Amino acid sequence: MAAETMATELLARAGPGAKDPAVEAAARALNNAYSNYLFIMCGAIGGAILLWKLMDSIIKYTRHIVCLNNDRQRYFAIASPWNASIKRHILYAPLFRKRHNREIQLSSAINVGTLPTRFQLVFLVAYFATNIAFCLVGVPFNETASEALDVLRKRSGWLSTLNMIPLFVFAGRNNPLIPLLNISFDTYNLLHRWFGRIVVIEAVIHTIAHIAKTNWAWNMVFAKPFYGWGAVATIAFLVLLIQSWSPIRHAFYETFKIIHILAAAASIVGLYMHLASGARDGFLSYCWIIIALWVADRGARILRIVYINIGRSRSRTVIEALPGNAIRVTMTLARPFRGRPGQHGYLYMPGVSLWQSHPFSISWFESTDDVSSDKLVSNQQERRAMQKMQIGFIIRARTGYTDNLYKRVAASPAGKMETTCFFEGPYGVKHPLDSYGTVVLFAGGVGVTHQVPYVKDLVAGYANGTVATRRILLVWTIQSPEHLEWIRPWMTEVLGMDKRRDVLRIMLFVSKPRSIKEIHSPSSTVQMFPGRPNIDTLMQMEQEQQVGAMAVTVCGPGTLSDEVRRVVRDRQHNTSIDFVEEAFSW
Ligand SMILES: Cc1cc2nc3c(=O)[nH]c(=O)nc-3n(C[C@H](O)[C@H](O)[C@H](O)COP(=O)(O)OP(=O)(O)OC[C@H]3O[C@@H](n4cnc5c(N)ncnc54)[C@H](O)[C@@H]3O)c2cc1C
Repeated sequence: MAAETMATELLARAGPGAKDPAVEAAARALNNAYSNYLFIMCGAIGGAILLWKLMDSIIKYTRHIVCLNNDRQRYFAIASPWNASIKRHILYAPLFRKRHNREIQLSSAINVGTLPTRFQLVFLVAYFATNIAFCLVGVPFNETASEALDVLRKRSGWLSTLNMIPLFVFAGRNNPLIPLLNISFDTYNLLHRWFGRIVVIEAVIHTIAHIAKTNWAWNMVFAKPFYGWGAVATIAFLVLLIQSWSPIRHAFYETFKIIHILAAAASIVGLYMHLASGARDGFLSYCWIIIALWVADRGARILRIVYINIGRSRSRTVIEALPGNAIRVTMTLARPFRGRPGQHGYLYMPGVSLWQSHPFSISWFESTDDVSSDKLVSNQQERRAMQKMQIGFIIRARTGYTDNLYKRVAASPAGKMETTCFFEGPYGVKHPLDSYGTVVLFAGGVGVTHQVPYVKDLVAGYANGTVATRRILLVWTIQSPEHLEWIRPWMTEVLGMDKRRDVLRIMLFVSKPRSIKEIHSPSSTVQMFPGRPNIDTLMQMEQEQQVGAMAVTVCGPGTLSDEVRRVVRDRQHNTSIDFVEEAFSW
């Protein structure tokens, strides 16, 4: 703070038009102080989240161990009033009453995106306000316009460059903060979008302040490479801002992505040359950090693809067309990884598109022995090397890549074919459910892909005595009973698992049955109903029978997610309930 006060005083004393080296140094010290505050603020927030996540893990671990041999778990079912209020009003709260994941659509083709949660908004507003304050504090507004514009220009340029570091960290699939803070990629994506807007606004302020200082001499852009490259960066930033507008992004995602990468590259080149040609060497290190972040993420992605798909043999992939415009993808990977529920990966299919990769939830994973090899195994290490991993995906055809894939497989003989596919992953945050006595999983349509691995894991854990879970309810809403085929082979295996009947119930809701004859319940633990579920009634029933703490997870259309979120919030004070949401969009 002392450096900041001294610098402000020096700047004030220097008076209008001063170009004193001491004053310049003071201005730089002030900029440095503000950038340090910004990093300290982000670090402090990150540290607080880390501490909170650490405590959460300790609580879950303790509960898991304590509840292993306890079938009632009464203590853990009781809601703590404080905790319940924090979850209801802050952690799980949408911005207003209910809407969070349901997209705001101006028409069926124009998607304006989703609203942030209250917690996300508080962070974004605080960060935005801090940036505005740091842009303006110390600007000598009572001096000449030229003097004020000069300080504003330098400050905004500095902050814009600085904010590009978190902007690039948040954009990466391999962002190290995802596993560290256990915050999902789609939250970082939201932050990436808002940090991007801040970077662009500051770059535009920087440019306008500069031009205004020269009495609006626009043609100065051509006077020196320093100005010209600066203009390239600002124009690239503006292109990024316009083309990432939600309706454009959602309607033309792949085109958006290509232009986004090209414009981002242009902005970095423009910025680098701007700084280099203006002898702003102190700033160049920021550019190198940004470039290093981008290269590290891309490098990690390539390494993941090579490692998982190329071993003694290559990954093999079989795809099948399913009813309801869906596709089942079964991959036998060249190398196994440690599979756990909640993971997703990106699929590259050169036969459909050379450069596109799309994210899909891993809905099944299991280890198999390499049947293609006739080598005799002599030790454990060799046995592990011989083991293969099979992973499964269900893909619902939309209008682009997934539709092309569906048409291709549907046109093949028997609606089934082998194809070349590369898997990049696994990605995703950890939401372990094994410390909860009661787990309720809601799924809408293809959202069931996210829930199946949890069901399998928990049923296996119950049979082995390794989880606290005593009640599992899967509520799946589908449009037609034909959609049951999507996960039939996997559910057949789950339904045949040891002690399954003691712990798992499945409720299937068919929202658009062609006839009531289609609705029949195979058993008392697997029931089928016409229409949509009444979430409130289901949750009331579960709370009445609740064992231990309850986890409620949802993956499906925004309307379903928002309704489940609302009910969980409304019921926070009755018993202990945690809420986990997985979204298929960003
Ligand atoms: C973590 C995650 C897991 C997912 N799991 C599944 C799953 O198991 N099964 C399933 O059917 N779908 C899943 N999806 C959705 C799936 O990724 C999209 O439906 C698919 O990418 C659409 O491709 P398209 O070219 O046919 O899209 P289009 O019809 O062109 O667009 C449809 C929508 O998909 C979005 N989209 C398009 N391309 C991408 C992309 N590369 N990355 C992210 N979003 C994109 C667009 O913004 C648009 O809103 C998941 C999405 C995410 C983020």
